[in-house]
Amino acid sequence: MSIATNIQNIKSELAKNITLVAVSKTKPNEDILEAYTGGQRIFGENKAQELTQKYESLPKDIEWHLIGHLQTNKVKYIAPFVHLIHAVDSLKLLKEINKQALKNNRVINCLLQVKIAEEESKFGLTPTDTEALLNSDEVQQLKGIQIAGLMGMSTNTPDTNQIKKEFNALNLFFKQLSRQYPTVTILSMGMSGDYRIALEQGSNMVRVGSSIFGNRNYS
Ligand SMILES: *Cc1c(COP(=O)(O)O)cnc(C)c1O
Repeated sequence: MSIATNIQNIKSELAKNITLVAVSKTKPNEDILEAYTGGQRIFGENKAQELTQKYESLPKDIEWHLIGHLQTNKVKYIAPFVHLIHAVDSLKLLKEINKQALKNNRVINCLLQVKIAEEESKFGLTPTDTEALLNSDEVQQLKGIQIAGLMGMSTNTPDTNQIKKEFNALNLFFKQLSRQYPTVTILSMGMSGDYRIALEQGSNMVRVGSSIFGNRNYS
């Protein structure tokens, strides 16, 4: 099936308030343009350099999201144009995003990545650290960033009950924070293999790659 058809099919499953991020990492510009011609305007990449190259060569009305882990020394490349950074997991990174945003006269929207998977994963904040960041005076002074929500990834497992449990926990946490912090409105959870479960558990932003563009070849 074509990329445009895949997008139409997935969009038909999404309620109006759900944002589809088409994850185009490793895929060539021609694939992105096919999705673009089909109406898609929001794309996600997981590497700053690839994101920057694609931004430079593709239509300027694309909304680019950085969905992967971001190193502080790469923030400067994406700060002029990035629309949303999904995986912020430290004060150090927030401060660097703030600094680069101010240099560009921008406010950059960020999601805090919360560790929900039972499996050992390197990235993501605990719920306690997430709340501490939102609460901290230091973060509230940062005028170049806005914490727009939370992002999470489930355990890579065929056990759908496990995935459901993890997404449900993140949704409850999100709801609690969004009552306390009015800027917290986005819950980014769900990828090709688990976005339907994520939607049932309250996600309002899904990041879908291989179900749109086909499998990735990293060789
Ligand atoms: C690659 C990636 C996705 C998309 O994965 P698919 O399984 O291809 O849909 C979503 N989120 C993040 C953080 C990713 O790195």
